[in-house]
Amino acid sequence: KMFNEIQELKGNIRVYCRIRPFLSGKKEKQSIVKLIGENDLVVANPSKEGKDALRSFKFNKVFGSATTQAEVYSDIQSFIRSVLDGYNVCIFAYGQTGSGKTYTMTGPNGATSETIGVNYRALNDLFKIATSRESLMDYEIGVQMVEIYNEQGLAVPDASLFPVKSPSDVIKLMDIGLKNRAIGATAMNERSSRSHSVVSIHIRGKDLKTGSTMVGNLHLVDLAGSERVDRSEVTGDRLKEAQHINRSLSALGDVIFALSQKSPHVPYRNSKLTQLLQTSLGDQAKTLMFVQINSDVSSYSETLSTLKFAERVS
Ligand code: ADP
Ligand code: MG
Repeated sequence: KMFNEIQELKGNIRVYCRIRPFLSGKKEKQSIVKLIGENDLVVANPSKEGKDALRSFKFNKVFGSATTQAEVYSDIQSFIRSVLDGYNVCIFAYGQTGSGKTYTMTGPNGATSETIGVNYRALNDLFKIATSRESLMDYEIGVQMVEIYNEQGLAVPDASLFPVKSPSDVIKLMDIGLKNRAIGATAMNERSSRSHSVVSIHIRGKDLKTGSTMVGNLHLVDLAGSERVDRSEVTGDRLKEAQHINRSLSALGDVIFALSQKSPHVPYRNSKLTQLLQTSLGDQAKTLMFVQINSDVSSYSETLSTLKFAERVS
């Protein structure tokens, strides 16, 4: 049933919108975004009034600001588990810096078992299912981390694929990856908003009875911040970074758009990110994008441009 349900979606692409809650003190009442049921939201332009101010958007799902990490995961769980049946799955978090991309994918700093994000939940889940099938299937799981900065891919800690035996191996690997970045925590936070971070989980399974094998890949991508940088205000390295980000995010949008249209030509070659993910972004693959938005007045223009990007690919 699940399979049929997914097949019916255009090009196997799902777009989920997640609204970040207001942080400390601010009131949700001041939100410019309103949820209408599970699939629709309305955003109000603060400089207009009445009906003219409103614009609506439709998604495969909208997660309101009170949605927990566990609720988000339970919604995408079957999607992730399909990797063990040989599917390639890509999950992206898109949005301006501060909209909750890293929260959704990894969790907050010092995350607890309640607040850990999709990455850790997915790994735990995949190991759990792999173990439960031990008498039928022999799975090998490997993890690779890549950071794409200025259209260059840097493997973290290096280019090799690490075989992992348990979720704690992965957590150790991720910690090494973070420490290997030769920059301090503040600089890293700064930079993480300007690079794409890709965690790839490769799974090879062998059916113990028939001897047949399968391969599945899961890519979890925390994208660079989508905010537009005012060209008149930045120069040099900062401008170059901004141009690379713009180019790669629009290349990603173009690829997903082409897939959603079932276009015969999919322009993978236009960015490092889409080249890297080419084999996992296609007809037979499944793609899910978390479109992250802030709902405060000051984020209005970025929120609107994020929603427009999402509308095009969904
Ligand atoms: P981004 O990665 O898009 O720049 P972050 O994930 O770092 O944004 O989120 C910005 C801040 O908001 C962080 O302090 C994060 O912990 C917090 N935050 C984001 N989403 C949520 C959420 N759903 N619930 C609680 N706090 C959140
Ligand atoms: Mg982030």
